[in-house]
Amino acid sequence: MRALRFHQFGGTDVLRIDEVPDPQPGPGEVVLRVTAAALNHLDVDIRSGLSRFPVPLPHTPGFEVVGRVAAVGDGVTDWSVGDRALCFFASSCRRCRWCRSGHEALCDELQFVSIAIPGGMSELFRCPADQLLPLPDALDDVSAAAVMAAFGTSYHMLFTRAGLRAGERVLVTSVGSGIGSAAIQLASWAGAEVIGTASSQDKLDRARTLGMTHGIDYTTTDVVAEVLRLTDGAGVDLAYEHVGGERFAEAIGSVGKNGRVVTCGGHAGEVVDFDIVPFFRSQKTVIGSFCYSRDEVLACLDLAARGLVTPQVHATFPLAEAPAAYALMERRGHFGKIVVTPAT
Ligand SMILES: [Zn+2]
Repeated sequence: MRALRFHQFGGTDVLRIDEVPDPQPGPGEVVLRVTAAALNHLDVDIRSGLSRFPVPLPHTPGFEVVGRVAAVGDGVTDWSVGDRALCFFASSCRRCRWCRSGHEALCDELQFVSIAIPGGMSELFRCPADQLLPLPDALDDVSAAAVMAAFGTSYHMLFTRAGLRAGERVLVTSVGSGIGSAAIQLASWAGAEVIGTASSQDKLDRARTLGMTHGIDYTTTDVVAEVLRLTDGAGVDLAYEHVGGERFAEAIGSVGKNGRVVTCGGHAGEVVDFDIVPFFRSQKTVIGSFCYSRDEVLACLDLAARGLVTPQVHATFPLAEAPAAYALMERRGHFGKIVVTPAT
């Protein structure tokens, strides 16, 4: 089969399409014929050698994988050849205190797709059968591939970690990304008033069609001052932050008394300063958030299948053009997810 791989860490120029042996399912495993695999910034961190995860070379990226079951290994009874499925992003031990208490993303032995096993930017993809999730008929494969990381992460951040309530005001930073556009839809659907930031009016205009009430171009406007103006000086109740650097500082400054900042990323700056004094005097809270559970992903797939949220797909690329797909994402000109379709 063909697989996207890199043999050394670096930029998009290290990506190549290799011919590799077809994977065979071991006991308890399945092989998917991949129909859609979504790009994520984690793929770029891994390829650049910056992920802080151990990554064997050569390496196939892609942890957001949808396909049809092509082969099943011994002992697999829940899945049959031809079934449509999404692969959950990691396997967990099911034994540690975090797994036992429903926090599988915190598992002591978490094994990521595209780190512990080769990723899904390939024609065939092998994984443990118990990592597969069923897909609603109403959701096509490309849309389904755009749900897990964007909506699962946002659902976990907004509802599970930050406890968003109807009627609250929410700031969403960098709305043009996959998770930013997902957060707008989920927060709006849940009855929040949503203010968003982006680097262009074009992205803000797109976000308005998804439920964002107010847009702020952070390249031309003081975000904190504008949020305070829009909220009559009160600030927002919750800031949804996934970028780091200046965006994190803006989030801290934009929440009001008793405000929460929930964060899941730091691409634009992993170490940031903030003024402690207004932080404690206003009783602000910063909440970390990591990944999502199977139940949260299934809830998001159901919301998408019912048309209550819409996965945003910027473009699809055949496998042969996957390096160009990554180059597009890394130029940050996209709105929503970029998806590779190896079966086409
Ligand atoms: Zn565990």
